[in-house]
Amino acid sequence: MKHLSEYRDFDATKKYLDEIHKITTREWNIMEICGGQTHSLVKNGILELLPEKVRMIHGPGCPVCVTPLNLIDKAIELLEKGVIVCSFGDMIRVPGSKKSLLEAKAVGGDLRILYSPLEAVSIAKQNPDKEVVFFAVGFETTAPANALSVLHAEKEGLNNYTILASHVLVPPAMEAILGDKLCTIDAFLGAGHVCAIMGMQEYYPLVEKYKIPIVITGFEPLDLVQGIYMAVKQLEEGIYILENQYSRVVKEHGNEAAIAVIQKVFEVGAREWRGIGEIPNSGYVIKEAYRKYDAEAKFNISHIKVPENPHCIAGEILRGIKKPNQCDQFGKACKPANPLGAPMVSSEGACAAYYHFSTH
Ligand code: SF4
Repeated sequence: MKHLSEYRDFDATKKYLDEIHKITTREWNIMEICGGQTHSLVKNGILELLPEKVRMIHGPGCPVCVTPLNLIDKAIELLEKGVIVCSFGDMIRVPGSKKSLLEAKAVGGDLRILYSPLEAVSIAKQNPDKEVVFFAVGFETTAPANALSVLHAEKEGLNNYTILASHVLVPPAMEAILGDKLCTIDAFLGAGHVCAIMGMQEYYPLVEKYKIPIVITGFEPLDLVQGIYMAVKQLEEGIYILENQYSRVVKEHGNEAAIAVIQKVFEVGAREWRGIGEIPNSGYVIKEAYRKYDAEAKFNISHIKVPENPHCIAGEILRGIKKPNQCDQFGKACKPANPLGAPMVSSEGACAAYYHFSTH
């Protein structure tokens, strides 16, 4: 398939691997932000093929993993109130403080698993006597569709549709990681799909402020190995610039129509990240003009706060301080069939990627 098979080409990928081995003279820590990139690195065995001196640190870019525990509990509270809760499939097995959404469904909750928030708007239209909430979780990538669902509900004149929103933003998370005194990151691979929406503009200030190379990178083996090569080359040459390995998808100013939809419904505000805590200006909150579509405001559930599982070190994994196999619970009490934390559930979670594919 064009634009897929050539980025899985072994010979082309090996050429970049050989170049990385040739040019690497000292130890470098490179963080791939996105969980999809982590998954691809582990699944394709790339971590084992890199020089020992090039260490990939897995970042917080898994939307399911960074969704706070209390948000799962809020969605379960809505199910228990008789609300129809709609969600993408990846959220339903994530443990809340007492149970997961799937377990709440098993005892009678009306949980619908959808592929698009627009389907949730249709469900609201078909069930005028029921409240319908879409569990709107994700990074900048899912924000346009979730915002669009609000605009559709408004256009349809629906008063029974709201979203339980927890959108987080990548650049503030990178800044929080760089500002941590335990940070050892020398360069970043930027998340290609996020930049496809948002463009490149937000990353120049980070490069300048922290004097750190950032390479916006795709997800196939060749993308990742080329992105790592570009980052190592900058580090070895002592330069720091923003580069775009994923130029076949990412444009300087992103997708301006999608950004306009986001900006109509959302504004930037503080967001809580699971295992990391609240980061200022790190997420989207619903604008006052669209507050009637905010499930937290409508159902008075903002007070629900619960502590994280004390045995799960997801916060350290998400900040790149520890690897999944350094968690005492990894592969013992915590497995995909019995996850203690979100990184073992999500298909983009670092713990699940290590469990399924890593030799560690
Ligand atoms: S292995 Fe399980 S308990 Fe440990 S950090 Fe990962 S999800 Fe949490």
